[in-house]
Amino acid sequence: QEIRVCVAASCQSSGSLPVLEALKEACATQGNGRCKVKGVGCMGLCSAGPLVAVAERDAELNSSLLYRNVTPVDAPEILASLQGPPVERLRCPTDQPFFQQQVRIVLERSGLIDPESLPEAIVHGGYSALIQTITEMTPAEVIREVTASGLRGRGGAGYPTGLKWSTVAKMPSAQKYVICNADEGDPGAFMDRAVLESDPHRVLEGMAIAAYAIGASKGYIYVRAEYPLAVARLETAIRAARRAGFLGARVADTPFAFDIDLRLGAGAFVCGEETALMASIEGLRGQPRPRPPYPAESGLWGCPTLINNVETFANIAPIIRKGGAWFAQIGTEGSKGTKVFALAGRIKNTGLIEVPMGITLRAIIEEISGGIPDGKRFKAVQTGGPSGGCIPEQYLDTPVDYDSLKTLGTIMGSGGMIVIDETASMVDVARFFMEFCMSESCGKCIPCRTGTWQMHALLEKIARGAGTDEDLALLEELCEVVRAMSLCGLGQTAPNPVLSTLRYFRHEYEAKLRA
Ligand code: SF4
Repeated sequence: QEIRVCVAASCQSSGSLPVLEALKEACATQGNGRCKVKGVGCMGLCSAGPLVAVAERDAELNSSLLYRNVTPVDAPEILASLQGPPVERLRCPTDQPFFQQQVRIVLERSGLIDPESLPEAIVHGGYSALIQTITEMTPAEVIREVTASGLRGRGGAGYPTGLKWSTVAKMPSAQKYVICNADEGDPGAFMDRAVLESDPHRVLEGMAIAAYAIGASKGYIYVRAEYPLAVARLETAIRAARRAGFLGARVADTPFAFDIDLRLGAGAFVCGEETALMASIEGLRGQPRPRPPYPAESGLWGCPTLINNVETFANIAPIIRKGGAWFAQIGTEGSKGTKVFALAGRIKNTGLIEVPMGITLRAIIEEISGGIPDGKRFKAVQTGGPSGGCIPEQYLDTPVDYDSLKTLGTIMGSGGMIVIDETASMVDVARFFMEFCMSESCGKCIPCRTGTWQMHALLEKIARGAGTDEDLALLEELCEVVRAMSLCGLGQTAPNPVLSTLRYFRHEYEAKLRA
């Protein structure tokens, strides 16, 4: 049997490292050599951390004995339970919807393997898709498989991945680049962080397969400096992959050459926008530029460049291993596969989940998330971060996919999901997101730089009960102007939280005006 302790950032913040040490010590003194204790990546239920799983070697989380809120003093009892009954007071049932309704593709090894061990990743299929790709498939066949999967970019826009890859592949250039966008910055979102902390080799493998498919020899991962654990694990993984020949001048003893370097973002949200991100890698100020030209034609240092986000690359290896047709069976007509969501806000189970596209919001909020605590009523769910919007109760049966969420005036975004209960003011919610956009506006174009400031000032005024009908009318007009006139996605989507709260909760704005 093995004892797995979550050592991703969420569980570390609730004290999992001392638990790991205590369990190792108990294992050394009580274990009689019959158990192994190891640190693993995120198991998902962050609100119950530190989490410890006791399982047969390589058994999945669903078939493990899971303990919640473990402290170092619990270590001897947990060790004793290997030969006896479970420690009931710590037990976290894995037959609950939180675990049972998930379909784990991106997170298949998360919580199972030691993220700092390349051999463990390999035992669980790591790099087998890369070997298969470069020894048995042509670049065109790889792109065909990714296209057949129906995978769409998980960074937010939902652009078809196969189409993006084939566009870059067709560009006649001796130098091309692959970039992984790990500059996750939406409030409440931590999907990319968890994937990088839990299974970094999966992302490296996806990038290497993409490089082979489009003809690139160099890749960059642009990751937030505020994610020190993810950065450290990526550095460890890159070094190990180079030593093992999965990165470098002759990948797996073939003529294919590909290497990856890290670039750390310095905290600017706008650097998640692809043209700003590339400027930042080039050593310039991280500001967006007009498109076209698109990165696929003229990206990093003017060369054709493929940019995908962490979750998109994390889906590639299973698609190659099991086939595009297998992946396309999961999800809905227009949105294939699964989606990783970071659940936050007023719910019982906060954490990380992976669910098939097409699952309803109600299933996520009422079943997987365990509903609203303290007997409060649900009011809205915010999806898509500052570019998204709020969905009210009457649409909870909507399937979660790119197109359905769009018709409700929001977006799937990269996967942040914040649940709001009846105690929150929707004007305050809109004000919060506008303040975020105002602070993060890079200032390059006037509509966004000045417009977000003015919209925030109007929201402040309305929220404190000093607004007038004219203020509300001006706010709505500004939303349209900023949306239409801003240079990049940050400004173009900054009005979305205001527009969606006005669409479904206008009465709350009007009540503030009358107040
Ligand atoms: Fe900068 Fe905002 Fe203009 Fe984007 S829209 S370029 S963030 S000022």
